[in-house]
Amino acid sequence: MADATARNVGPIILIGPPGAGKGTQAKRIAERYGIPQISTGDILRENVERGTPLGVLARDIMARGELVPNESIFDMVAQRLRQVDCEHGFILDGFPRTPAQAGWLDAFLEHEFFENLHRGVCLPIVIRLKVDYNQLVKRLTGRRTCLAGGHIYNIYSQPPRVDEICDVDGSKLVIRDDDREEVIRERLTAYELQTRPVIDYYERKGRLVCVDGDAPVDEVSNQIWQVLERPAVSN
Ligand code: ADP
Ligand code: AMP
Repeated sequence: MADATARNVGPIILIGPPGAGKGTQAKRIAERYGIPQISTGDILRENVERGTPLGVLARDIMARGELVPNESIFDMVAQRLRQVDCEHGFILDGFPRTPAQAGWLDAFLEHEFFENLHRGVCLPIVIRLKVDYNQLVKRLTGRRTCLAGGHIYNIYSQPPRVDEICDVDGSKLVIRDDDREEVIRERLTAYELQTRPVIDYYERKGRLVCVDGDAPVDEVSNQIWQVLERPAVSN
């Protein structure tokens, strides 16, 4: 797949509330273009799992549905973006989550990342997945994730072939700690208060494109291909 559509897509930011489908679509974009998905939530969960100092710091904050402090997030993202697989593009999922994070990312991309890019698209494309609030709670309570490969399922809309088992690698599916209803409400509130202003930030810069995230998964992907493959962003 990546060969058929290979191009220098540059940085892509997926923005939307928890449950909007960022992880689901990021994996599809990663496969189609051969660029990495960088999910700050996934990296934090790995750190919690491994019991690193960052994981110890983040564990309770994540369990409450609050945001991990910027200084830890910035170090973590900078370290990841400096890896060689990000040179021709990457998909950010879950970052930036505040206007301060968006400002930090702009400065980072301008001063560090772009200097290393030999050619191609430089400014990030920001894709907003718009989803009805009531759908989000249903999606999050129905989400199941495989521990081994991070494959994402939903007991209502994308069930595995065998109950609680990942179709791809046969591992057991789990419910994320923060996908309990009381934490879901907290996370959606944090999104409204802290992340929604990021949408205005990118809109003012003329970089925001909206996609109907309420549509079925394949339709959402098709909308994204149209955005990424229009002539203005091809080489
Ligand atoms: P996010 O990364 O934005 O939190 P996910 O990609 O994990 O969201 O999706 C949240 C849940 O919703 C998952 O269970 C996923 O299977 C399901 N889902 C994702 N996209 C859609 C869609 N377009 N329609 C219905 N369910 C979806
Ligand atoms: P996610 O997997 O994107 O839903 O994120 C899960 C949790 O990780 C969030 O509720 C936060 O506690 C933390 N987190 C993820 N990304 C960030 C970020 N960019 N800034 C601060 N905290 C984050």
